Amino acid sequence: MPEASSHACMSCGACCCAYRVDFSVHEMEDLGGTVPAGLAVEVSGATMRMRGTDHVPMRCAAFQGRVGERASCGIYEWRPNPCRELEPGSQGCERARARHGLPPLDA
Ligand code: SF4
Ligand code: SF4
Repeated sequence: MPEASSHACMSCGACCCAYRVDFSVHEMEDLGGTVPAGLAVEVSGATMRMRGTDHVPMRCAAFQGRVGERASCGIYEWRPNPCRELEPGSQGCERARARHGLPPLDA
């Protein structure tokens, strides 16, 4: 979820329940980053993954709300880079929305 201020994102949240969210271990709070320890699991020595993003059904452990209705990130200010980089209206955004049966943003 890139923009708390984006109206589309606040009633969507599809990308928080559609992809594995992997990021550098250096983004973890205990290594000087911001992501709280309990919310991510180790993938390899160098890579962490948001808890829940490789489960079925997929749902990030920090996600709050219901996809397509209301959505927020419980660690918005501390979320990892992949969440900041995904742009509303981008391919990744639209693919996530489609997976959840939501219409394209520009429809
Ligand atoms: S899928 Fe797109 S519209 Fe939905 S929360 Fe993510 S970036 Fe926002
Ligand atoms: S950390 Fe927040 S923005 Fe990133 S996937 Fe999880 S709920 Fe979404």
